[in-house]
Amino acid sequence: PAKTMDELVSLCKRRGFIFQGSEIYGGMQGAYDYGPLGVELKNNLKAAWWRSMVYERDDVEGLDAAIIQNKHVYKYSGHEDTFTDPMVDCHECKSRLRADHMKDIKVCDNCGSTNVTAPRDFNLMFKTNVGPMVNEESYTYLRPETAQGIFTNFKNVVDSTSRTLPFGIAQIGKSFRNEITPRNFIFRVREFEQMELEFFCKPGEDEKWHEFWVGARKQWWLDQGLAEENIQFEYVTGDDLAHYSKSTVDILYKFPHGFEELEGVANRTDYDLGSHTKAQEEFGLSAKVKKNEHSTAKLAIRDLEENKWEVPFCIEPSAGLDRGLLAVMTEAYTEEELPNGTSRTVLKFKPHLAPIKVAIMPLKKNKPEIVALAKELKNKLQKLGLGRILYENTGNVGKGYRRHDEVGTPICVTVDFDSIEKEGAPVTVRDRDTMEQIVVPAAELPAYVINYFIN
Ligand code: ATP
Repeated sequence: PAKTMDELVSLCKRRGFIFQGSEIYGGMQGAYDYGPLGVELKNNLKAAWWRSMVYERDDVEGLDAAIIQNKHVYKYSGHEDTFTDPMVDCHECKSRLRADHMKDIKVCDNCGSTNVTAPRDFNLMFKTNVGPMVNEESYTYLRPETAQGIFTNFKNVVDSTSRTLPFGIAQIGKSFRNEITPRNFIFRVREFEQMELEFFCKPGEDEKWHEFWVGARKQWWLDQGLAEENIQFEYVTGDDLAHYSKSTVDILYKFPHGFEELEGVANRTDYDLGSHTKAQEEFGLSAKVKKNEHSTAKLAIRDLEENKWEVPFCIEPSAGLDRGLLAVMTEAYTEEELPNGTSRTVLKFKPHLAPIKVAIMPLKKNKPEIVALAKELKNKLQKLGLGRILYENTGNVGKGYRRHDEVGTPICVTVDFDSIEKEGAPVTVRDRDTMEQIVVPAAELPAYVINYFIN
């Protein structure tokens, strides 16, 4: 794995995974842009999550709700009142520091001065104006989590799918938090993506489901290539619990800057649906909620056995996509000494995550028959739907291997004179991890590639 954030940042920029946002204007703190390979890696990680959370289960539906929502959503969700971090100002260097919920800051991180204020609450939501009139009422917020769009659509999903408990709703999308101190590359940023599942169950079955999801989510991260020894659980308690949570288990990963939260699995009880439902008094809610004077829908489900309407409990595994990508890159990063005394950098991604699946390189860039066969193979493999297949005509195979090791391409295929002269059109297939090369007849290449990526 990577030992320092710097080596990752530098590889990400050099090879086109991640760039500082607004770089040509001096940058924008807490915002990053995903380049040609970053966008592929991100899409692959999202697809793996969606496959596991939606397609491979029969009790989860997908959703893609709007980022901009009615301001009442955040009034009743509790975010307007309580989605804050404690902030301390330094009188000396004028910097603002994010305090921990548990301990005050006595010394400024930045200049070492002890001349700092007591902590005060700072709301992390971005407030924005909606519509052409700017007045006291015309505001809303950018969503600080995707979850609220799931709760507000609870009735729509139940009515349109006839789901009964237990079942879940999954969503992937952007969230925004005006973090006091964005830092550690894409670990803490102001604009990020979340992959969230809200899993609704009967009250009383919540603890069992909570435990189930903690285990399932850890297994999923292992399946993305993270090593068991680099994952830990942290049981969040007391003042550190979010305003909606009865109990939370954080899944931590050993990032280059230390063990930190990758995903939180929270038992949100009946807090959210209870907060957004109308007729709250009918449901005997267990969570303490603000009295709702605006909702037009009952967010409850019929318990067929007991023949009554109830507000389900909710278990939420909430993963950061950017943090996930950082974890996967940290883990995949490998510096290897080779037998011939040289060394190489390899990103040992799991095949399903690799941004480029196969690179096809003609050995002679000006030989029409070689170029034509290489292009034909690229088109054939692209149609398999495995992801990006790159046709790369630089004529320098050695450099190509090096570059593809560094971006984690599992397979490189070279087309040479043998391929056009010998019977069966043999091409050379080179494996990223073992660096072994084998010869495969061109007609058998698609089957070879499918077998590699599907099995
Ligand atoms: P932290 O304590 O690190 O600020 P959190 O406990 O506030 O995180 P949650 O509200 O539980 O985070 O959000 C769920 C997930 O969303 C986190 O586990 C993380 O992966 C991701 N996430 C939250 N805030 C950020 C951020 N500022 N930048 C990138 N990812 C984030």
